Amino acid sequence: MRPRTSAASATRRAFGFYADLAAAQFRRRTPYKLTYIVTDECSCRCAICALWKAPRPGARTDEIERLFAANPELSWINLSGGDVVERDDFLAIVTAAVSRTRVFVLDFPTAGQEPERVEDAVRATLELPLPKLVVTVSIDGPPELHDRLRGRAGAFDRARETFERLSALRSRRFQAYVGLTFSSRNDARPAQLVDDVLAHLPGVAREQLHFNLAHHAPHYYRNRPDDVPDRERLVAFLHDEERRRRTQPRSTPLRLRWLEATYWKLAVEYLERGRSPLPCSALASSVFVDADLRVFPCATWDRPLANLRDVGYSLRAALARPDAIAAAEDAHALRCPNCWTPCEAFPTILSHAPRALVRARHGAAPNELKPVVPDVPHG
Ligand code: SF4
Ligand code: SF4
Repeated sequence: MRPRTSAASATRRAFGFYADLAAAQFRRRTPYKLTYIVTDECSCRCAICALWKAPRPGARTDEIERLFAANPELSWINLSGGDVVERDDFLAIVTAAVSRTRVFVLDFPTAGQEPERVEDAVRATLELPLPKLVVTVSIDGPPELHDRLRGRAGAFDRARETFERLSALRSRRFQAYVGLTFSSRNDARPAQLVDDVLAHLPGVAREQLHFNLAHHAPHYYRNRPDDVPDRERLVAFLHDEERRRRTQPRSTPLRLRWLEATYWKLAVEYLERGRSPLPCSALASSVFVDADLRVFPCATWDRPLANLRDVGYSLRAALARPDAIAAAEDAHALRCPNCWTPCEAFPTILSHAPRALVRARHGAAPNELKPVVPDVPHG
């Protein structure tokens, strides 16, 4: 595959991204990371997601181009859904993201139900001057369980084919992972679940399997509070997983290993206490925009702040409003539902890198270890 990114463009984008990470240590006011729900539409019928029951198609292509043109400072863009690849204008959307912003990392998940289409989309995206592309194919169990959870016969086989096609693409700018989300529907024996999934994915290294925790996201997935996995079972699994990973050689770059290891160590604390382990950087480093272009702090907190259509599509303008400034302060103080989803937790870890490192290694101070009831409920 012929990379089209010029060395100068890649360097400029990399410099911007790492400058953003450095600035994040000082609580900047303009997020560099956008999670954007391009569409609710999706060919799956998942048990833990209600998007497909009343899907919103998402903004028009020209509006999405205006969104990116109005926010050129974005350096990390997560396109999500629904299934973004199932939009006919997917390539126009990623082209706008790459050409109108200084994005360094672009990532998106897919249910992988149209293997050839996903492969074509990734190949086309790699023709753009984008330094890093990460795609996660969602697989939540071995074939029978996965098909049941996704509400579609053959869903596992199609997702597996998608992952195999993506794994065969050779580009240093591209990484493909399998994403396994633990929820109340598959958490009976987490370690056995992982073994069963890997047994049906020959050739997939365990480190290509990334875990996630289902959260209650009323304004996003519109799911139910009891979809979240059992805390005790997950904590026990994560302790075992940490021991296992420590003793296994891994080919993942060190900085990614550090980020993931820190995320999961702090996830144990989150599960045990029900409170986010670090001051949240939502609205300082990251922001969430839904399919109707409404701005929220994150995927979990149902606190609408503005509609981009009313502010010239500018995140800077939306987040300069008094309510958005107050919400940023509330997030930092964890006066919010509290969560630990990778979309916001990774920027939070990167915004508090030294503190995250100490906390992951030594744990919370004794006076912080009592269970906490979140200060603000959902809604
Ligand atoms: S969880 Fe994802 S794959 Fe499943 S219906 Fe919702 S958007 Fe589609
Ligand atoms: S900790 Fe609060 S503000 Fe931060 S991502 Fe979670 S719910 Fe949103």
